[in-house]
Amino acid sequence: MRAVVVNDPVDGYVHIEDRTLRAIKPNEALVDMEYCGLCHTDLHVMRGDYGDKPGRIIGHEGVGRVKEIGSEVTSLKVGDRVSIAWFFKGCGHCEYCLTGRETLCRNVENAGYTVDGAMAEQCIVVADYAVKVPENLDPVEATSLTCAGVTVYKALKVADIHPGDWVSCVGAGGLGNLAVQFAKHVFGCHVVAVDGNPDKLRAAKDAGADILINRHDDDVAEQIQKLTGGVHAAVVTAVTTSAFDQSVDSLRPDGKLVAVALPTGDMKLNVAKTVLDGLIVAGSLVGTRQDLKETFDFGAEGLVHPIVKTRKLDDIMDMIKDMEAGKITGREVVDFSLK
Ligand SMILES: [Zn+2]
Ligand SMILES: [Zn+2]
Repeated sequence: MRAVVVNDPVDGYVHIEDRTLRAIKPNEALVDMEYCGLCHTDLHVMRGDYGDKPGRIIGHEGVGRVKEIGSEVTSLKVGDRVSIAWFFKGCGHCEYCLTGRETLCRNVENAGYTVDGAMAEQCIVVADYAVKVPENLDPVEATSLTCAGVTVYKALKVADIHPGDWVSCVGAGGLGNLAVQFAKHVFGCHVVAVDGNPDKLRAAKDAGADILINRHDDDVAEQIQKLTGGVHAAVVTAVTTSAFDQSVDSLRPDGKLVAVALPTGDMKLNVAKTVLDGLIVAGSLVGTRQDLKETFDFGAEGLVHPIVKTRKLDDIMDMIKDMEAGKITGREVVDFSLK
């Protein structure tokens, strides 16, 4: 089968190679991949930013159908459509795995990084960790919900918001656009979208944002305070530390900032303001299997729609170059049936 593999030595790129997968273990399943999205995280893996992984099959936004199951598998059957996410597997027995916080497991496996991923015609999964994709959900949209979708859905859960609350989605790119959709259509909130790109702000408006703010304005926090009385929660997907500083200042008392993006550097956090306003600052990382199931269900109900476009496997190098050049709106997804 054909797979997209990190170059050896690691040089920031990948190549397509023919691979034969090992036999599956009793708790595993073999999946024939239908689609896999390309993600910025894949670029980091190719470059060795998290540690060199030469020869690794990339991909963690995969959707496919189960072809074969191991002798102990009870959670899947042949023909089921399943997803392959960045959270590939936890240890299953630590404090975090046992208390619904499995993404914080210290012995986590990540698809397309610590184990071979989904940007290949076939992939081996641990059956209990492969979340099923509902048949009435568009499988191409499901690829983006597997990564960006579940990440922002989880962040909004962490934000602890309620219907009628104000939420700011700071950064309106792939993650932020989906955050607007979830905040508006799933959580029933009023939404402020903050971004520096007019096209992304227009897309946020279409996605359901009530107020649009250009992040290059010098009074971003004051504008938000004036228009909303301060937001109950800010979900920050923008990769600049100044976005975090603006977001703290745009919160109302008892407001919560949820950090999703990973900028280099620190945010400014005034301790007195944090105490006097009872502010809460939290981080949120991808989502659990249950979070992903819920994300898929909302997608299947038509409440959220990622922006996706399919391409063939042989286009992978062009997809990578387009992503590096910032030319992609939404996600480009390999359709393994296209030749
Ligand atoms: Zn991803
Ligand atoms: Zn664990």
